[in-house]
Amino acid sequence: MRDVATVTGPCAPDALGATLVHEHLAIGWPGWEADRLADAAARRAHLARCVERLRELHGLGVRTLVDPCPMDLGRDVELMADAAAQSGVRIVCATGLYKEDMGAPAYFKFRASWGDVVADMADCFVRELTEGIGETGVRAGLIKVATGAGRITPYEDAVLRAAARAHLATGAPITTHTDEGTMGPEQLEILTAEGVPAHAIVIGHCCGQSNVAYHLRLLDRGAYVGFDRFGLELLHPDRERLAVLIGLLGLGFERQLVLSHDTVWCWRGRAPTLPPDLLTEWEPTHLFRRILPRLREAGVGEEKIRTMLVDNPRRYFAAADLTAC
Ligand SMILES: [Zn+2]
Repeated sequence: MRDVATVTGPCAPDALGATLVHEHLAIGWPGWEADRLADAAARRAHLARCVERLRELHGLGVRTLVDPCPMDLGRDVELMADAAAQSGVRIVCATGLYKEDMGAPAYFKFRASWGDVVADMADCFVRELTEGIGETGVRAGLIKVATGAGRITPYEDAVLRAAARAHLATGAPITTHTDEGTMGPEQLEILTAEGVPAHAIVIGHCCGQSNVAYHLRLLDRGAYVGFDRFGLELLHPDRERLAVLIGLLGLGFERQLVLSHDTVWCWRGRAPTLPPDLLTEWEPTHLFRRILPRLREAGVGEEKIRTMLVDNPRRYFAAADLTAC
């Protein structure tokens, strides 16, 4: 069994422990560098905030956090490495690219006019998975892909196929972003048609969809399904996320469900000013303080909770190895 690449070094899948599969230490929307009014000294404050949050999570039993920030959303793997080293919580970072409408597609769209852009992207992903990200010495541990609401653009299709190639070359698992609870089955179709086993894929943000048939389409094919936006009440109510999750647990799907919040702790450039009463529960301890107690009240046992938080991330990172060259 190959080790998982974390930002502070390799880790055996068995040693990952309780894992949040989708949180962000920092993101920056493409173009953030152009904001000259942003505080140049923010990084020190960002690191302090990340260490504080990671230590809080450590106190709640979290041992590993996956930050699937793609290459084009202000990814800062050195911030992740510093925060992991100071907090004792391992972090797994990603290679990959974001969806077309909010990512930075211009470069590869331009290249697509002249050659095989899927091969170009796959080469980049493989390099970050095997040799490291830039000069940092940090290797990515998984591949991130993303699609917008209701359709998959040709650019996003190319990213998905490049991710599949990078998976086949390295064994690294794939995690996805979906919008508005759409396109998960289509993502799975593309990735599996390219040869990726479903058990090496987390279809992310599925909890934004309350139609159980949508989840069953993914689960019946063997993929992991992300209930990874707890607390993002603005996009979809937790009550519905919980209702669907409890139903799927009742059907015995605990071995394919993973939990997280998709919180963003720091913003590169100037931080958005959100109304104070908005998103009051969107923080990375929400699961432990409010959601797990509600699952227990609904009769979900500790074994199922442990399966989702500990066993599934371990199997996801380990099982993908079986297909490695
Ligand atoms: Zn995310």
